[in-house]
Amino acid sequence: MSVPLLDLGRQYAYLKPALDKAVIDVLTHGSFILGPEVTRLENEIAKLSTTPYAVAVASGTDALMLALHAAGVGPGDEVITSDFSFFASAGVIHRLGARPILVDIDLDTYNISADKIEAAITPKTKAIVPVHLFGQSADMDAIMAIAKKHNLKVIEDAAQSIGAEFKGRKLGSIGDYGCFSFYPSKNLGAGGDAGIITMQGKEEYERCRMLRVHGARVTYHHEVVGYNSSLDTLQAAILLVKLPYLQGWSEKRQAHARRYDDAFKSNSRIRTPVVKDYATFHIYNQYTISVPNRDEVMAKLKAKQIGCYVYYPIPFHAQECFSYLGYRPEQFPNSGKAAKEVLSIPIFPELTTAEQDEVIATVLAAA
Ligand SMILES: *Cc1c(COP(=O)(O)O)cnc(C)c1O
Repeated sequence: MSVPLLDLGRQYAYLKPALDKAVIDVLTHGSFILGPEVTRLENEIAKLSTTPYAVAVASGTDALMLALHAAGVGPGDEVITSDFSFFASAGVIHRLGARPILVDIDLDTYNISADKIEAAITPKTKAIVPVHLFGQSADMDAIMAIAKKHNLKVIEDAAQSIGAEFKGRKLGSIGDYGCFSFYPSKNLGAGGDAGIITMQGKEEYERCRMLRVHGARVTYHHEVVGYNSSLDTLQAAILLVKLPYLQGWSEKRQAHARRYDDAFKSNSRIRTPVVKDYATFHIYNQYTISVPNRDEVMAKLKAKQIGCYVYYPIPFHAQECFSYLGYRPEQFPNSGKAAKEVLSIPIFPELTTAEQDEVIATVLAAA
């Protein structure tokens, strides 16, 4: 039996009437950029994230870019982030002319080691970008305390963690800004690229809205040079159809995770995800195991046509484009180990029990 890593077709099968109608409605009203569905989506995501404001943008990457820009990050600044994440978390820092300062991760959660952040702070440090990787919160109490002590902005990269919680608080509502992605493979996925920024402050809200439309508060009056990052109305319409399902989907992912956790207990070589007490709602955008013979396990899964993927094979410090930062591998023992040992296996909500059993049997036999 082949098992896909993710099968969005199954979701479309039951959402088809509502999605088709939502798309046709937009084609009919014709307000394609920042139309009424975009405003509705912003209101809904602000409500979900328990923040007063949200600004929808063209992608999760742009959400980070605009939030960092709005936070005042620019040339000469340093911004601290995790060494182990999707490229955008560090890429946007570089693109703003600032220097990414990389910090090693905790091998239990693959999130930034909060206790290694302070050593990375210099007089140039402007902000911290904690990433809530795979759907689990970073240690936000520790991170916020450091930020407060050193007067730093906090931009949460919650791209993989919409609806997830830290001590009962929604991610994206803790730092100065929360950045979400609606890339199709995220728990709430659009029909293409889309993203959103949440924030507490009105000033932050207005700055992001201005940056989204080329830096103009009033059309054609450009206060600063901004971006073309408006969200397509079609994407917002699709997301509004899916949003009411998000909680149920995340709960299904949690149930799959519990089954995997139980099944893999019998093999001590398989390290299953550790859920911290503070991560009161883990949404499992990925279920990521760690095994010493990862490449062998991956090859065996692939031979049986079972979907799996390595998020992420190369930590930032080892990326060619960041060689100018001058880091050495010895500075990042944990992200280096994770890159060699992690493997994400199917956990999408519609995964069947029979399919999951097939994944379990294959992983147990290979690890
Ligand atoms: C997906 C993702 C992004 C970028 O989002 P896009 O919508 O693909 O631009 C940023 N950070 C993390 C951690 C992500 O997983």
